[in-house]
Amino acid sequence: MRAIAVFPHTQEVKVIEHEAPRMTEPDHVKVRMLDIGICGTDKEICAFEYGTPPEGSDYLVIGHESLGEVMEVGPAVSRVKVGDLVVLTVRRPCPDPECNPCRAGYPDFCITSDYTERGIKGAHGFMTEEVVDHERYLHVVPQELRDVAVLTEPLTIAEKAANQARQIVDRLPWLERVLHEEARRLNPTAVVLGGGPVGLLGAMKLMAAGWQTYVYALQPAPNPSSDIVEAIGATYYSQGNIPQEAQQALFGHIHLVYEATGVSRLAFEVLKLLAPNGVFIFTGVPSLKAPIEIDTDLLMRNIVLKNQLVFGTVNAGAEDFDAAIRDIGIFHQRWPDATSALITNRSSPEEAPGVLLGKIGGIKNVITFSSRPT
Ligand code: BGC
Repeated sequence: MRAIAVFPHTQEVKVIEHEAPRMTEPDHVKVRMLDIGICGTDKEICAFEYGTPPEGSDYLVIGHESLGEVMEVGPAVSRVKVGDLVVLTVRRPCPDPECNPCRAGYPDFCITSDYTERGIKGAHGFMTEEVVDHERYLHVVPQELRDVAVLTEPLTIAEKAANQARQIVDRLPWLERVLHEEARRLNPTAVVLGGGPVGLLGAMKLMAAGWQTYVYALQPAPNPSSDIVEAIGATYYSQGNIPQEAQQALFGHIHLVYEATGVSRLAFEVLKLLAPNGVFIFTGVPSLKAPIEIDTDLLMRNIVLKNQLVFGTVNAGAEDFDAAIRDIGIFHQRWPDATSALITNRSSPEEAPGVLLGKIGGIKNVITFSSRPT
């Protein structure tokens, strides 16, 4: 069975023959992989900066953004059936009996860091022909979302963030659920940092919830990301290119920032612009570079005197996957072309090492193992 694997010791990324996984537990499900998305984390793993093979293996099968079709189910499986389209979650719980989040089914909040992540840390991933996993890690996707459902995992980041932001916003007694219907009336303003898939999916989520949304990214418009931003009715500004009047209008009036670049200097600059009672959400993971100076007094003054909230979020739980599948359906209905346009390139498994190691541009690159469910 073909798989794309990373060998950290010999610093190789290549297509290998990998043993087919076996169904050994009654709640096991065998999945034929269809589409696997590639993200910055995969590229870092392929640059040998991140990622860990499973214990006893000298390689890691990469891939954590999945879409597959169920081939076989164990006798205890009741929720999924052969032929279903499914997306798999990424993180698996740590073994520590004291880790309450893992024990309660929330490994995305694990406190020991001994979790595994398929395709990233201590467990083989999905960039292969067949995968076996427990039923509880599978989420069924409607058949009509076949072509875009590989975007589910990157959207789960925004879903988990939205879920937390909603609870934070709910602390404001006079604001009733800003992320819901009332948002249209209150007209809250959000800024998304980054025009990659996580940022653009976050912008779609914000637009669907009625936020006035600005996306701030590096590339000057027009480009494929700015086209998508425009198509969903949001506003695109490129770095260093914000009209003066927009700068004035936004200063101190940004209610939410969704950071999706991993560029810490930019993030802390934008944090200075956050409105009173605003929320700043970090999702990017910067590589560790030399320290830089930031104005800690100003930032701390603002955070205290303006009741601001700054939080980071990683990975996602089962509810976030279900919410992402629902929202992909909404985006697909509302903005069919823009949603499909997020996937800018599909390659074969043989081309995967080149895509992972190369500088291929575009928004979301996908490796397609099997073109249609059979
Ligand atoms: C993945 C998450 C994972 C994180 C840290 C991200 O790219 O989407 O599932 O938890 O990397 O490894």
